[in-house]
Amino acid sequence: MTYRVLVTDEVDPEGVALLAAEPLLQVDEVPTLPKDELLRRIGDYDAIVGRSATRISAELLNAATKLKVVGRAGVGVDNVAIDTATALGIAIINAPAGNTVAVAELFFGAVIGLLRQLPTAAESMRSGRWDRAQFMGRELKGKTLGIVGLGRIGSEVATRAHAFGMSVVAYDPYISDERFTALRVRRAATLDALISETNILTLHVPLTDETRGLIGKRELGRLPARSVVVNMARGGIVDEDALLQALTHNQLRGAVLDVFTTEPPTADHPLRTAPNLLLTPHLGANTVEAQRNVSRDVCLAVRDALLRNDLSRSLNVAAGATGEWPTLHGAMLVARRAAAVARAVLADQGMRAVRKLALRVSPDLAHASGPLLSAAAVGLLEGVIETERLNLINARALAEARGIELSVAETTELGATRGVEVALAGGMQQLAVAGTAPDGSTPRLTRIGSFHIDVNPRQTLLILTNHDVPGVIGRVGTLLGTHGVNIAEYHQARLAQGGDALAAVSVDGAVTEDTRKALLALPDVLTASIVLFRDE
Ligand code: NAD
Repeated sequence: MTYRVLVTDEVDPEGVALLAAEPLLQVDEVPTLPKDELLRRIGDYDAIVGRSATRISAELLNAATKLKVVGRAGVGVDNVAIDTATALGIAIINAPAGNTVAVAELFFGAVIGLLRQLPTAAESMRSGRWDRAQFMGRELKGKTLGIVGLGRIGSEVATRAHAFGMSVVAYDPYISDERFTALRVRRAATLDALISETNILTLHVPLTDETRGLIGKRELGRLPARSVVVNMARGGIVDEDALLQALTHNQLRGAVLDVFTTEPPTADHPLRTAPNLLLTPHLGANTVEAQRNVSRDVCLAVRDALLRNDLSRSLNVAAGATGEWPTLHGAMLVARRAAAVARAVLADQGMRAVRKLALRVSPDLAHASGPLLSAAAVGLLEGVIETERLNLINARALAEARGIELSVAETTELGATRGVEVALAGGMQQLAVAGTAPDGSTPRLTRIGSFHIDVNPRQTLLILTNHDVPGVIGRVGTLLGTHGVNIAEYHQARLAQGGDALAAVSVDGAVTEDTRKALLALPDVLTASIVLFRDE
C-alpha cells in the first residue's frame, strides 16, 4: 500500500527528500495552495506537511477522508483545528525542538540591538552622520533576566544569559525544582514576584487560556522602572495596547516584539511607530539551520506515523511515551487485546453496555499510562463502533462520549515489570483480563478473571468455560479439527479440581458462529466466546 503525502508552504528540501526516498510514499510538493484548491485536492492524501501558511480548518479536515497525519514544520499549531482532527482520529505532528536555538540567539541579538540602539545607529550612519553621544547603551552584565516559561527556549536563553553575567530568575509552575537547580536559575514563586525584580522580562510560554494577556497594564506597571519587555513567544501574551501605553509614557526602557496578535499587523498599526520598540516580523525560527531541523524532524515523524504506526510524536495522542514507542508497543497490544477479550466474554454473558474501563499497570509502565489507556479504549470499541477512524488518537474521546468512565492506576500486584490489566464493568458484572509484554518477547495474556492462562493473543482466541471433567479437551480439539480450525495454542486453567475450568485456545484464521454453536453443544462446555483480533 502506498501513501500520498502533500507538502505545501515550501518546507525545507532536506526533510522532503527523506519522505520521497521511501518507496511506499508518494510525495507531491506544491507551493501554498489557495483554500478552495486545497479543499478540492485534500481527499486524495494520507498526510499533509506544511508550515503556518496553510490553514488546516475543520472544513478541510472533514473533506480529508483519507487523511491520517497533519505535519507542521515548526512549533505553533494555531493554524490547525486540533479538536476536529482529534475527533476524526487524525494525528497532528509538529517539530517543537528544531528552532529552539534560533529563538534563543535572536533574543540576545534583539535585546543587545535595543540596548545599544543598533537599528537607529546603523540608520544614522547610512544617512551620513557620525553621532556617538546619542547612542549611549546599556550592558547585560549584572542585570536580572526574568524568564516566564522555562521550557526548551527559556532554558536555552537562561544558559546563554549566564555567559553574559546576568542574574537569572524564572517563573514556571510546571517545571521541577531539580530542573531549576540544574539550569542554575532561581525560582520565582509567582509571576508578580518575578516581575518585581526583573530588568529584562522575556516570555517563552505557549499561548493558552492561562497565558493570553498574561502581561497587561497591571504587570507592566509593577516592573521596576526602565525595564525591557521581550515577546518572542506568541502574539497576545503581552497586551499590545498596554505595552503601547507604557512605551509612550516612557515607563519602559524599551521592548522587543517578534510576534503579534494579528500577523502581520496593519501597515499603519501604532506599534510600528512606538518609541523604543524593536520590531521583527516573526523571525524567531527564521534560520537556515532551524528550517532544516524542523523539516527533518517533522518529515521523519510523519514517515514513522504512516509506515510504522508510530504516533509517539503526535500532539493529540495521549503524551508520555515519547522516545520509547517501539518498546511500548507490546504493552499497548496487551492493553488492547485484554480489553477486547473482556468485552467479548462479558458480551457472551449478556453484558454489552460497558460503563467502566479501569486500567492498572505495573510501576515501570506508569509513565505511559496515557497511551496504554488509549490502546485499551481501542480494544474496547473495535468491533463495536465503525472502526475506520477509530485509533489511538480518538479512542478515549469516543469511549467517554459513550458514557464510559475511564481510569488508570499504578499497582505492584501485576508484578514489577510490563504488567497490564484491563477491567471492564457494567451492570452487576465485571471482568479483568491481564497480560504482560516483557521486553523482546511476545506479548502474553496471563489471566482472565481468576483463571491463570498463558497465551499469545493473535488472530483469533476462543475462550471456553467448562466443567473440569476428563475428555473435554479432546472433544473440543476433535470438533475444531472437523470444522477445519487449526489450534496454535491451547491453555487450560482451573481454580479447583472438579470445579469450573477455562480454556484459552488461540487458533489460526476465523471461527464461524456455527463452530461456536457446535462447541456450546458439546457436553460440559458452558460458554464459548470468540475474539477476533483486528490488525495491530
Ligand atoms: P516549551 O513547551 O518547551 O516551553 C513552554 C514552557 O512554558 C513550559 O515549560 C511550560 O511549563 C511553561 N508554561 C506554560 N504555561 C505557563 C504559565 N501559565 N506560566 C508560566 N509558565 C508556563 O515551548 P518552547 O519550545 O520553549 O516555545 C516557547 C514559545 O515560543 C511558544 O509559544 C512557541 O510557540 C514560541 N516560539 C516562537 C518562535 C518564533 O518564531 N518567534 C519560534 C519557536 C517557538
